[in-house]
Amino acid sequence: MNIHAQPMTCTERMLAGKVAVVTGSTSGIGLGIAHKLAEAGADVVLNGLGDSDQIEQTCSDLAQAHGTRVAFNRANLMIAAEARGLIEQASATFGRVDILVNNAGIQHVSPVESFPEEKWDAILALNLSAAFHATKAAFGPMKQAGWGRIVNIASAHGLVASPFKSAYVAAKHGIAGLTKTVALEGAEHGITCNAICPGYVWTPLVENQIDDTARARGITRDQVIRDVLLAAQPNKRFVTVEELGALAVFLCSPAGQGITGTALPVDGGWTAH
Ligand code: NAD
Repeated sequence: MNIHAQPMTCTERMLAGKVAVVTGSTSGIGLGIAHKLAEAGADVVLNGLGDSDQIEQTCSDLAQAHGTRVAFNRANLMIAAEARGLIEQASATFGRVDILVNNAGIQHVSPVESFPEEKWDAILALNLSAAFHATKAAFGPMKQAGWGRIVNIASAHGLVASPFKSAYVAAKHGIAGLTKTVALEGAEHGITCNAICPGYVWTPLVENQIDDTARARGITRDQVIRDVLLAAQPNKRFVTVEELGALAVFLCSPAGQGITGTALPVDGGWTAH
């Protein structure tokens, strides 16, 4: 792992001294959460796919912006051993893992009768099983330390369904169940585990599914945005990665210690329907 370190510049940093691993943090929500955790003082291990030079730049920007240590691990989380290895290597690099954000995820949109089996397997492997493997690896040391924070990025689709997203909805409902179980097992050991359930957030994942949804429903891109994506979101605005990062920091802060086993919607009212 390459480590980028800068001197601390901020004074109010409630996660100073903590080490956070954020899966799937080379873009989108994961990167937004990594920024907020680093801003709150945590050292951060980034993970994900992408161009090496760009990732190197992201790590250095993050370290420079927030004055924390930043490392990167390219683990392919569809492989159980690599998910475990991410936690082991983060512990070896920074001494321990206090905060685990299971965020990496992919999507595929297709009617169930033609849903490709390999897409089902890939979505379940990354969106659900990877969170289990990383949690399993991080949980024992958190228990020994008597403190840990696990934040799973589920989705409004962890609470309700939409057509053509069978694998995604199944995986996200699965994450909500895993969250409750881990919360119960960690409750007497200072470990909290919660799921954040975003509605639509403007990231590459959303951009990439617009064309597929348009094809599956036989409508235009603009219609997908207005009538499908934001149709369900009563406040008619996309959630931002900064809002999700701020919630993750709150859950990891002292004020969040009584919150565990929850699935918190950040969806502009979508699941209130
Ligand atoms: P994104 O595509 O911007 O980011 C996904 C991240 O996962 C990237 O860093 C990517 O490199 C990484 N990744 C992909 N395959 C990987 C693999 N095999 N191993 C390791 N990392 C891998 O997506 P996003 O929109 O930021 O989504 C992040 C999470 O938020 C996902 O779990 C998604 O389901 C969830 N979510 C997103 C939205 C939304 O509207 N964007 C809404 C609800 C929930």
